[in-house]
Amino acid sequence: MKKIVVLGGGYGGVLTAKKLAKNFKKNDDVQIQLIDRNPYHTMLTELHEVAANRTSEDAVKMDLKKIFAGLKVDVVLDEVENIDFNAQSLQGQRASYAYDYLVIGTGSKPTFFGIQGAEENSYTLWSYDDAVKLKDRFRQMFTEASKETDPTIRREKLSFVVVGAGFTGVELIGEMAEYRKELCREFFIEESEVRMIVADMAPKILPLLPDNLIAKAEKRLKKMDIEIIVGKQITGVSETGVDLGDQKLIARTVIWTAGVEGAGILDNLDVQQKGRKRIETNAHLQSLDHENVYVVGDNIFFIPEGEERPVPQMVENAEHAAPLIAHNITADIKGGTKKEYKPAFHGTMVSIGSRYGVASVGLPGKFFPLTGLFAMFAKHAINVLYLFTVLGFNKVWTYMMHEVFHAHDRRTFLGGHFSKRSPNFWLVPLRVFVGWMWLHEGWDKLQKVIDDPNNIFLIPADPRADVVSAASEAVGNVASTVDAQAAASAVETAGQAVTAIPVPGFVSDMVQSMMNLMFYTGDGGYTWLATAFQIGMVAAEIIFGLMLIAGLFSAIASLATIAMGLMIWSSGMAPTDMWWYWFAAFALIGGSGSVFGLDYYVLPWLKKHWKKTWFAKRWYLYTDD
Ligand SMILES: Cc1cc2nc3c(=O)[nH]c(=O)nc-3n(C[C@H](O)[C@H](O)[C@H](O)COP(=O)(O)OP(=O)(O)OC[C@H]3O[C@@H](n4cnc5c(N)ncnc54)[C@H](O)[C@@H]3O)c2cc1C
Repeated sequence: MKKIVVLGGGYGGVLTAKKLAKNFKKNDDVQIQLIDRNPYHTMLTELHEVAANRTSEDAVKMDLKKIFAGLKVDVVLDEVENIDFNAQSLQGQRASYAYDYLVIGTGSKPTFFGIQGAEENSYTLWSYDDAVKLKDRFRQMFTEASKETDPTIRREKLSFVVVGAGFTGVELIGEMAEYRKELCREFFIEESEVRMIVADMAPKILPLLPDNLIAKAEKRLKKMDIEIIVGKQITGVSETGVDLGDQKLIARTVIWTAGVEGAGILDNLDVQQKGRKRIETNAHLQSLDHENVYVVGDNIFFIPEGEERPVPQMVENAEHAAPLIAHNITADIKGGTKKEYKPAFHGTMVSIGSRYGVASVGLPGKFFPLTGLFAMFAKHAINVLYLFTVLGFNKVWTYMMHEVFHAHDRRTFLGGHFSKRSPNFWLVPLRVFVGWMWLHEGWDKLQKVIDDPNNIFLIPADPRADVVSAASEAVGNVASTVDAQAAASAVETAGQAVTAIPVPGFVSDMVQSMMNLMFYTGDGGYTWLATAFQIGMVAAEIIFGLMLIAGLFSAIASLATIAMGLMIWSSGMAPTDMWWYWFAAFALIGGSGSVFGLDYYVLPWLKKHWKKTWFAKRWYLYTDD
């Protein structure tokens, strides 16, 4: 029996454990354990959104048990305090854990460079708890300021300094600028009273980006009324602000984002370290001291061949390292050749508030700049890709909800256009009416089908056979309800022509060849498939009509009626009335049966049981409530 322990359920740890689980799926003699001090994986890159109340708190958390449901990874909740590499054992607060192979992925924490008062007097943004604390702090400062009568104290409470103008600092201050509007509205405070500053001792903000993007980011920050102070040494932090030599920035809230070092546990570890508490590795990402100890993510100190600097402490580094480590451990256990770490990075993206970003992306040596919506779109796309890898459909769904459909105060890159919600009960009459219309259509035709199942009236006659039925003739240029037969009768009764919705030539050609293949005998007759199709269509109209009336699986019924409408349209038989069938069905997709309908009872019941199935858990095929 071999036991692999992954310490840390961050980006690196989670991806390594997932890959290991896949590699050893069929090996009962290999155990995989993942230990983290939190029961969840935190999407650190989006913490600023929670801190400044763009998304809700659970948007950045992913339950580790959920991630590994259905996979052979034993998730353990414990804080590891030390590792005895000789005894091959981790000492946690709750228990000790033996290992044969260890992957260390404990990430980073903020570092204060020994600056006086910085640690004691600053807020940080490096964990879920930090983000929640910060959010509370903003609100607390606005609440207190709104009641404050002393103008000096009020001003101090409404001043915020972010120290560090790297990615984390800039993303946070951009988000704070948007949150300011919301808080000012809520507490009757003039926006001009609120001071927000981002300060750094480096000569420019976002030093890893090219100058043209830095200039754009600066312009945007200034437009958002953010003060930028660069090239000034930070000499101290106190309860009332930040010292820049003999200059003082007065603020009751200082947020420190100025640098990171290895997580606390690295203080005690007997392994070679470099940089700010990073573990030195070889090209296989093994610690230099212990070949059964691998290092992933921010903890790696490794300079790839031909490079001068160690790999960056960024998500992409964790993403590249994880599969390589899983491969190398698999090679250790099963035999095989180990791979060397030769990562190729694809750039960086920085959001400045919810609607603007700058990014430098591409292939190594060929980066191109993106700004505005494009950069935001790229950032979201990359997040979606990552989330899909980790928690599949479940997390992608919740991400879309948090970022687009349920975003606060119109703070999405698409504006508020998609985030408006209205109660579903307004749609109940429409749902019942559309259901009734389909039922009515189907019921009329049912009589005819029963009378003579071989009388085909829903499919136009074969044009090649020069046999043109009254119905199909009518359909060529006339229609008033949802099928050829009804169109024909409408024409007869109304005595006036109604134009069918036009169909592009290539669609008609495709449909025609499909009908030639399936429905026509070649001598003017119809195949048995045509009869079956017609019966199926009539049954579908009745069934989906009834489902809409009852509000049972109304989303499925709505989608199905859209599909039926498309089928009728593509065969050239859709009257212009069909438009409203479609548009009404679109409106009904979003859960109109969950108010006054059977979905109200059935869906929660089904969801509860579906979520428990192995299949749904393994492939994350469910949504959370
Ligand atoms: C606010 C913010 C914004 C960022 N933005 C970006 C960005 O836009 N792009 C980008 O590429 N990178 C960004 N980063 C950096 C990125 O988040 C890190 O590079 C990445 O998280 C590193 O992954 P990791 O697996 O090494 O560590 P982490 O993701 O930090 O995970 C470490 C895990 O180890 C656990 N752990 C630590 N110590 C112990 C212990 N003793 N016992 C048990 N468990 C322990 C922690 O709970 C955590 O779950 C950002 C970071 C922050 C904080």
